[in-house]
Amino acid sequence: MDMTREDILDKKLDALRREVLAAGYDSLIYNDFQSALPMLRKTELYSIFKEMPKAWLCHAHFEASFDPDFSLDLAFASDDVYISPDQGEFGWKIAYRQAFEGCTAPAGWTRLKDAAAARPELRAQIKRSIITTLEDISPRIWPRFEEIFIILRNINCYRPHLIKVFTKAFEDMAAEGIQGVDYRFICQDIFDEDGHHYSPEETMAVYFEIEKEVRRKYPWFTIRFVYSSYKGFDREAIAREIAFAKRLSDAFPGRIAGFDMVGCEDCGRDLNYYGQLLTGAPVPIIMHAGESVDPANHNLEQALELGLPRIGHGLNLYRYPAALEEFRKRGVMLEVCPLSNQLLGYTPDLRLHPAKDYIRKGLNVTINSDDCGVFGASYLTDDLLAAYLNWNLSLPEMKRCLINSLSVADKAALNQFSLMWDEFLTAIR
Ligand SMILES: [Zn+2]
Repeated sequence: MDMTREDILDKKLDALRREVLAAGYDSLIYNDFQSALPMLRKTELYSIFKEMPKAWLCHAHFEASFDPDFSLDLAFASDDVYISPDQGEFGWKIAYRQAFEGCTAPAGWTRLKDAAAARPELRAQIKRSIITTLEDISPRIWPRFEEIFIILRNINCYRPHLIKVFTKAFEDMAAEGIQGVDYRFICQDIFDEDGHHYSPEETMAVYFEIEKEVRRKYPWFTIRFVYSSYKGFDREAIAREIAFAKRLSDAFPGRIAGFDMVGCEDCGRDLNYYGQLLTGAPVPIIMHAGESVDPANHNLEQALELGLPRIGHGLNLYRYPAALEEFRKRGVMLEVCPLSNQLLGYTPDLRLHPAKDYIRKGLNVTINSDDCGVFGASYLTDDLLAAYLNWNLSLPEMKRCLINSLSVADKAALNQFSLMWDEFLTAIR
């Protein structure tokens, strides 16, 4: 039988994978993928993965999925960004002065530009405080991780800053071959040059304006949001939040993909606590669950009882074989995030990540980047490559994961992917 272009590429990628693993960095690739990235980015294998169409990014957090260097460059160049004299537990507090009453930074805060002139090491220190590495794994990793989001939100909430950062983010995603993204999104109002705060609807409209601009070059590029609340909230708070998600869904039809609760899963309440709130919700429930190695975590079994169609992570599904089989039968989507799982301490050795078995067993697995800006990673290339290198996947298995992600989109997106895939195969030599 003649080899297809896909067969030829599959063989070529496999040979390149062996080459990369034999080059002396295999231990880093398995145990510290983030540190292997500078080396990997110089390889032919990486170039091919970069060009590979990525279909839909189903799991990315809006507050952490952008280029942190670009955002910091803007902040350090601005006359309006100030730094607090007090550090948080894990990092500096910086903010636009327009965030405060009367557009004036609190007493004692210094203009960031001036602070940096006096302390040349400041930029590197702030950058380090917003990046997660394996060195940060500790019992306090989640409080640290959550503080990063606050630091980033404080600068990204300024409308002119946000527009620049997310225009670049959307363009970079599209250039990486990502057709669309479902952003986990904590609704936080943004403010403009004169301190005017935007309503949630006005804020969302800004994001869709950015998308419109980016579509001039990439007409197929689409953003949607998974309205996200917190795992620690009580029922009353979550009922209000779900109603709010519905309000946004009515205001922007087709743009709110669902509702989720974020944060440290093992610190929050289990899914059963919310019960009927989730089963009777007026928006689809897409839930972070199974992002845990705690044997007492049963959220995936509860997600099954609640009939949830789509799960963020699903990492510990291997503990529950009956649930796993039912997930397979029902085609529940698992949004797997390899690099995130390693950097937050859930899978120290990526070869032992259970998703490779979920893929082989025919579960509906998608591969995602979670918080690429905070992890020092690209929007999707790096996580796909982490999966490919550590799980010994074939090209058809990779492609299946990509196509799985398009079940959240319409038929046109699948047709677009086929076109992009054919172009990709044709361009490979
Ligand atoms: Zn997540």
